[in-house]
Amino acid sequence: MSPTYSHSRLSTFENCPRQYRYRYIDKLPRPGPGIEAHVGICVHKALEFYFGELRAGRPAPSRADLLAVYERTWSATSVAELRIVRNGFDSDDYYLLGRHCLEIYQAGAAESEIGEVLGIEKKIDIRLDESGRYRLIGYIDRFMRGSDGVYEIHDYKTSGSLPRPRDIDKDRQLALYELGVRGELPATAQVRHVWHYLTFGRRFQRVLSRAQLQGFARATMSVIRRVEKETEYAARTQILCHWCDFNAHCPEGRVYLENQPQPGLPVAAR
Ligand code: SF4
Repeated sequence: MSPTYSHSRLSTFENCPRQYRYRYIDKLPRPGPGIEAHVGICVHKALEFYFGELRAGRPAPSRADLLAVYERTWSATSVAELRIVRNGFDSDDYYLLGRHCLEIYQAGAAESEIGEVLGIEKKIDIRLDESGRYRLIGYIDRFMRGSDGVYEIHDYKTSGSLPRPRDIDKDRQLALYELGVRGELPATAQVRHVWHYLTFGRRFQRVLSRAQLQGFARATMSVIRRVEKETEYAARTQILCHWCDFNAHCPEGRVYLENQPQPGLPVAAR
């Protein structure tokens, strides 16, 4: 029987089949989370609180309340033990980055509050075919119905770079979430995908046609078939090796990293 996949599991395979093997087949122990993941968790928790209050019919939390949730989540982990890859950055820099994301989001949040919050961290079961052979699970950061009646799948990003238009066009994650959530919606429902690039205070959106959605379903089934036929699990060395949980186990990754400067400040600035 096929395992239940997720967008991130398939992305791991696409980025580096060796990493996929270490994580999902060999199930090597993983070191604790890196600091970037911790920032993401803390920001998501604060926004979960914010929209949970709205969903419960209470007033929008103040900036101070939002930041208090962020700080509590941040402090609940021993930050000194988190991995920091980037040269020239420390935990305070990352702490401030997360605060910055929330401050600029909260300042411009009015537009996001328009509509009805239907779910937060909503788990969805995605079936790509009738037989249930191709299944994935996912979690929607926020599911809403906009004031124009269009359902909205919101996703928060704390990454340090903005997507190019073709990255938005090609994004598989929210297409899969739409495929999962459509089973709960009227056949005629329209669905919008909304990404919040919180570091930049930018919002991107798209609407897919049925044909485009089916194209994502077919492409995803094709990736799953590739995963299931894979036998070699080649190492694909790249900048992401710096953040790979298994780089200490990976001979190719170790050789690659020995010859690479640590990411962070430009070489000239060190
Ligand atoms: S260190 Fe690099 S090449 Fe090796 S498994 Fe990790 S991502 Fe792949």
